[in-house]
Amino acid sequence: MKKLVVITGASSGIGEAIARRMSNAGHPLLLLARRVDRLEALNLPNTICEKVDVTDKASFEAAIAKAEEVYGETDCIVNNAGMMLLGELADQGASEWKTMFDVNVIGLMNGMQAVLAPMKARQSGTIINVSSIAGRKTFPNHAAYCGTKFAVHAISENVREEVAGSNVRVTTIAPGAVETELLSHTTSDEIKEGYEAWKESMEGVLVADDIARTVEFAYQQPQGVCIREIVIAATRQQ
Ligand code: NDP
Repeated sequence: MKKLVVITGASSGIGEAIARRMSNAGHPLLLLARRVDRLEALNLPNTICEKVDVTDKASFEAAIAKAEEVYGETDCIVNNAGMMLLGELADQGASEWKTMFDVNVIGLMNGMQAVLAPMKARQSGTIINVSSIAGRKTFPNHAAYCGTKFAVHAISENVREEVAGSNVRVTTIAPGAVETELLSHTTSDEIKEGYEAWKESMEGVLVADDIARTVEFAYQQPQGVCIREIVIAATRQQ
């Protein structure tokens, strides 16, 4: 059997597509999200599904320990879980900023820290962090979200440098707009309508499997080859 892959936020969208691809490639999986029923409904073979909020470091690490008892060491973690709550900074509640920083930044750091020491010790392993094109350029109503994703790029690249000498890879994937549930958590109907109109103006955006294919491509490189960063967006996206 191939090696264990851990995927956060696998209950919908991009994470779900990554889970299907990694499973098709023969990997045993640990899938994490709060909606564990959605993880279980994927019905993938050799897969452990755990209800974990990535901001809860202890339960995150306990889930990984449980999966490693069954499937052996984690060879790859895909830190994909994320929240996008769009809003103009002048109006947006601070609790929304905190949610995004907690999930998108601290949750991702929890995931990295849960696997880094053993990966360094055995001089092998891959961390794939799902950021966003909003971690490379800014967009209207995205101040806090862009802040989290710029942070993901900076943290990922810094950690890549820290562990490069231990032969551990850190890859950042930065998607443009993808058709998923991500926008649904934004509360302003006006902002949501504007976002949908923007997507329509591109005559369609990426689908989740476009990102899953990209994650698989990066992971399938030999351990001595690190794809540091991929920005991928619909051709018509500016
Ligand atoms: P979805 O909303 O479909 O998926 C988000 C996933 O994150 C869900 O599985 C959700 O699971 C999980 N999640 C959210 N909060 C937590 C938490 N506290 N603990 C554990 N899991 C959590 O959106 P996408 O698939 O689009 O998003 C995946 C990633 O891709 C995100 O990091 C997003 O920022 C990024 N991205 C998306 C783009 C897009 O246009 N769609 C563009 C660029 C980047 P549950 O609710 O069950 O916990």
